[in-house]
Amino acid sequence: MSLPETRLTYSGSSLDRLSEQRGDTALIESLRANARNFVLAGESFLLAKRGEGFDAGLTNDEAAYAGEPLEAAMLGKDANGRGHFARAVPPERIEGIKARGDFIVVDLRSIALQGLLPPEDLSALATAKALLFWHERHRFCANCGKPTKPAQAGWRRDCAICSAQHFPRTDPCVIMLAIHGEQCLLARQTRFPPGMWSALAGFVEPGESFEEAVRRETMEEAGIPGGRVAYFASQPWPFPMSIMIGAFVEAKTGKLKIDEVELEAARWVTKDECRLLLAGKHPARFFAPPPLAIAHHLIKAFVERGAGVFD
Ligand SMILES: [Zn+2]
Repeated sequence: MSLPETRLTYSGSSLDRLSEQRGDTALIESLRANARNFVLAGESFLLAKRGEGFDAGLTNDEAAYAGEPLEAAMLGKDANGRGHFARAVPPERIEGIKARGDFIVVDLRSIALQGLLPPEDLSALATAKALLFWHERHRFCANCGKPTKPAQAGWRRDCAICSAQHFPRTDPCVIMLAIHGEQCLLARQTRFPPGMWSALAGFVEPGESFEEAVRRETMEEAGIPGGRVAYFASQPWPFPMSIMIGAFVEAKTGKLKIDEVELEAARWVTKDECRLLLAGKHPARFFAPPPLAIAHHLIKAFVERGAGVFD
């Protein structure tokens, strides 16, 4: 089964990314005139206070107050023709910015969890965060070691010495719910908040299909040989620059052999218990990841469809 009708957090931007026009410097400059600027300082974004709410799209004057950007990129334009830009400023600026009183500085997870912004902007912020992170770590050419410069409105970095062109990357990560009969496999990583149980996950390796990565990780972490794999949905996950590929995998056995380096615990969970985890009503105060995470939707789909998720 797939999840076409639900927009996962950090996806679903309606911006026109202008991917064919990023080299048109006159166009990019014209878009700067009345821009919305998403400003990242360290791991957090600046939100301007607007009445009772907040706005991540700072005016040019507000963005200028935050300081000269270390890195910048054009994200696209909205239906009204307004340009959207991403800027990274030094994290040392945060205290001074807060002192002004008309901004708050909040990390992207908290922005989503607290519902501070419309979903539209979450997607653009996710793009900004992943892209700026990539720039920050690709200032030198991976081919020859000399400094690189941004090009294509922030969607490429070029090396003037060896002419190599470097493009932004996103790291594919599989997240899968193993299903055995009427139960699914939930696990705890030591880094999880106390009480949270989620699906297994891991990075796709070179030379591997998503399905193979799903089966390999399920075997490595839980000792479970995987059968059928069904794609569910994918989610941009800018922590720092991944895409989560959600899937279900059929467990060929219920016998667990847990990798104790990767996992603190793993166990089979019934649909009824999953319902309590999703609703935050579990008697042991265990809980599933919040709706902003694709894991929540994988577990929910299993509760609603059972083995039907493979159809
Ligand atoms: Zn080079």
